[in-house]
Amino acid sequence: MNLDVNTLFMVTIYVEAILGLLLLFAWAQNMAIRAVAWWGFAHLARAASIVLFGMYGSAPELITIDLANALLFTAFAITWTGARVFDGRPVEPVYLVTGAVLWLLICRLPVIADAIELRAMTASAIITAYTWLTAYEFWRGRSEALVSRWPAIFMLFAHGALFLLRTPLFTMLPWSPTRDNIFGSVWLTVLSFEALLFTISVAFILLAMAKERTELRHRTAAMVDPLTGIPNRRAFLMEAGDIAKRHGVNPRPTAVLLVDLDNFKTINDRFGHALGDRVLQIFAATTQESVRGADLIGRIGGEEFAAVLYDTGHDKALAVAERIREGFGKAAQEVDGRPVCATVSIGVVHCEGDVLDVPELLAQADQALYFAKENGRNRVEVASLDMLLTRKGEGRAQPLAAEMAQAVAQSAA
Ligand code: GH3
Ligand code: MG
Ligand code: MG
Repeated sequence: MNLDVNTLFMVTIYVEAILGLLLLFAWAQNMAIRAVAWWGFAHLARAASIVLFGMYGSAPELITIDLANALLFTAFAITWTGARVFDGRPVEPVYLVTGAVLWLLICRLPVIADAIELRAMTASAIITAYTWLTAYEFWRGRSEALVSRWPAIFMLFAHGALFLLRTPLFTMLPWSPTRDNIFGSVWLTVLSFEALLFTISVAFILLAMAKERTELRHRTAAMVDPLTGIPNRRAFLMEAGDIAKRHGVNPRPTAVLLVDLDNFKTINDRFGHALGDRVLQIFAATTQESVRGADLIGRIGGEEFAAVLYDTGHDKALAVAERIREGFGKAAQEVDGRPVCATVSIGVVHCEGDVLDVPELLAQADQALYFAKENGRNRVEVASLDMLLTRKGEGRAQPLAAEMAQAVAQSAA
């Protein structure tokens, strides 16, 4: 394959410019992800740098080599800054120009100005540094589970490595450019072609990352309670359904907890709604500390929370419930300097059978919760058959209690 370097230059300028505009257009449609605009400008800057390279021979080398490279490095720096912005890090203007300034200063050194290998080595080192810094930036933000993050890291790392290897390969392979024939070297064709493929792939991967993040945020917004940051009712029931499936395959003792804040209306009335919100946040935070990472908790109502503890026996579940109650009691004694003394009541129910019906268990936990409230609040009660029978005909979850009592009566007959 014989690729004419001038044609490659033209194609690259065109492609870079189109990709830059495409990214800017994508950003204009969703301005929430500002990094996309940075990446768009990076492509436009790269297009401009290649225009300058393309003027080699018809303009002074100060423009076609020195300035063109400085602009190219700035383009890489802009991509890196975009990666920083993408993961919420600040823009550092000095990083944007470091490579370009370093290059322009080095070019002034007589020993480098005339040594083409040294210049190429310097340019490669700057590009490698920027691409690897970009890869590192994406790697640092890996706690955000974006699948497209990984191909981006790989591509940036590979591109940087290629530039770093360019220098030793220059000396080993017979295609090295000479001072008179910089643009005739096979290397330039290979590198230009690789740069073209890289820039296309990277633009699409960056776009994919932005799109994936937007979708992830929409999904999260639909599933996470914005006040407490824990699953909302819908997400809780969905995840509970998943646990029920797991339980179907591998039945393990499982507990369901239903938690209701005590006299929360009074807390709101005395200290204000904003402080009430803080109390709810404190509850979610302390509860997350009291359960294992694999346990499910969710906010299923205004001041009602629920938890599913899979593979947790009777005593352990009770201990967890007590830990939640005590932990919250301590944390909510004083909130923002006010003597709130908030507490919770908890209803616990155990499932030892093969079928885990979470809505049904929640109804039973609700019975236990009712008793916890009746018995003075700030306590844990475990659902029992007695409880259901005692409550036959009473308020809260009467249909379930009646149904179960009837089932027990039938089986006794
Ligand atoms: P009990 O001990 O019997 O549960 O009494 P309670 O006052 O906690 O129960 P009640 O159901 O009467 O009141 C619940 C209160 O929770 C009423 C409502 O204003 C408040 N609430 C619900 N959601 C929120 C919220 O998001 N923020 C705040 N601050 N309050 C909320
Ligand atoms: Mg309530
Ligand atoms: Mg309450």
